[in-house]
Amino acid sequence: MINPATGETVADMALAQPGDVDAAVASARAALRDWAGATPAERSAVLAKLAKLADEATDVLIAEEVSQTGKPVRLAREFDVPGSVDNIDFFAGAARHLEGKASAEYSGDHTSSIRREAVGVVATITPWNYPLQMAVWKVLPALAAGCSVVIKPAELTPLTTLTLARLATEAGLPDGVFNVVTGAGGDVGAALAGHPGVDMVTFTGSTAVGRRVMLAAAEHGHRTQLELGGKAPFVVFDDADLDAAIQGAVAGALINTGQDCTAATRAIVARDLYDDFVAGVGEVFSKVAVGDPHDPETDLGPLITAAHRNKVAGMVERAPGEGGRVVTGGVAIDGPGSFYRPTLIADVAESSEVYREEIFGPVLVARSFTDDDDAIRQANDTQYGLAASAWTRDVYRAQRASREIHAGCVWINDHIPIISEMPHGGFGASGFGKDMSQYSLEEYLSIKHVMSDITGAADKDWHRTVFTKR
Ligand code: NAP
Repeated sequence: MINPATGETVADMALAQPGDVDAAVASARAALRDWAGATPAERSAVLAKLAKLADEATDVLIAEEVSQTGKPVRLAREFDVPGSVDNIDFFAGAARHLEGKASAEYSGDHTSSIRREAVGVVATITPWNYPLQMAVWKVLPALAAGCSVVIKPAELTPLTTLTLARLATEAGLPDGVFNVVTGAGGDVGAALAGHPGVDMVTFTGSTAVGRRVMLAAAEHGHRTQLELGGKAPFVVFDDADLDAAIQGAVAGALINTGQDCTAATRAIVARDLYDDFVAGVGEVFSKVAVGDPHDPETDLGPLITAAHRNKVAGMVERAPGEGGRVVTGGVAIDGPGSFYRPTLIADVAESSEVYREEIFGPVLVARSFTDDDDAIRQANDTQYGLAASAWTRDVYRAQRASREIHAGCVWINDHIPIISEMPHGGFGASGFGKDMSQYSLEEYLSIKHVMSDITGAADKDWHRTVFTKR
């Protein structure tokens, strides 16, 4: 594993082979019965202990997360790690809350009741951008529901997932419930996604790979949950607080060096505010401190790999050919590490690559709109539907934007914050199903209807619909 800021080796990691996936799935299957049969309170106690141990291991988790991803240490300390600990804690509590319809005599002749049962063995595949949070978002609701898990973290960033599994064992999670296979997506990931021995496949990553994973799971009819790419619109109406919108755009676009599926990527700004917005964002972008992610003064770390930086740079270089105007940035920084300056591209065409495709780097593109209908139309002019924001002081505009923008999350006068109690998940090419919140727990539970006769009669009324003579 390579530190993307320095090019130095962080750790050597064994690469699993597809045969190891068989062993991990068998281990998860063997452990399932007892874990699914534990009481909610027993599961909750283990997860609460895990939250405590993860909190105590904060410094280790931060160090691993920064060195494997290159994310600024401030972000890891104030967002990734405390957010993950809180999420673990949330699912420790959620494990004890199974919801359903009340048992009742709906037919008059039977008592109907609902059981919530663990789906079974869950295969999980996660990306490199928020390795710890993505592992927690997938594994914790599964464990809370009583499932056992086999997770394959991204080959580039397995460290914090392995630490999480080690802490779970220390917290008392029985052997075999939480299995990690390190390795590459093309072989180990594919073997896991298409494994006949699992019951469900959950995935976070790109839309293209997510669809491949879904196809592999469909081969066996397995339940899937997909959190995929995004291209979030950031809509600034003409009554918005311009300063707040400028600051929000900078933070929303540059978080995690823009390698964030919900990042603000398409600024769609009222014509009257457009020039000032572009000038304001351009000015703050040019002052952002790019450098050593271990330094608490650093705002922006490197991109994950040189190959990824080349992809981002290539998209920016092609933008002027499609009408875009690079206001600031568009420059790779020399030296070790895959650094790239914050980049603002104005006046982009709706058909242009940088407007339509996920860039996944510190790049914001901007366009103006004429009226509210045009703003909503542009916001929705995308295959993605993960997140969006609307900036306005008019309550009716805010309500309309939250109603009409097609995305799994719409922020009003902010962009990015998430919270354990509320769901995260997309529409359209951004996937389906939810991470975080009680909704996510439900992804990992099957609903069973138990219908018990209460008449004791051998000759039941409804039999006459089938036969009359005996
Ligand atoms: P990716 O290339 O799709 O990889 C995601 C995971 O899938 C990695 O573990 C990867 O393994 C594995 N993989 C690759 N090919 C596979 C295959 N054929 N079968 C099974 N697994 C396979 O995504 P990424 O580049 O890591 O992450 C960036 C993407 O994730 C962006 O599109 C971003 O928007 C999305 N994302 C979405 C959310 C969300 O909540 N919606 C959150 C975070 C990120 P290796 O990398 O080890 O080869």
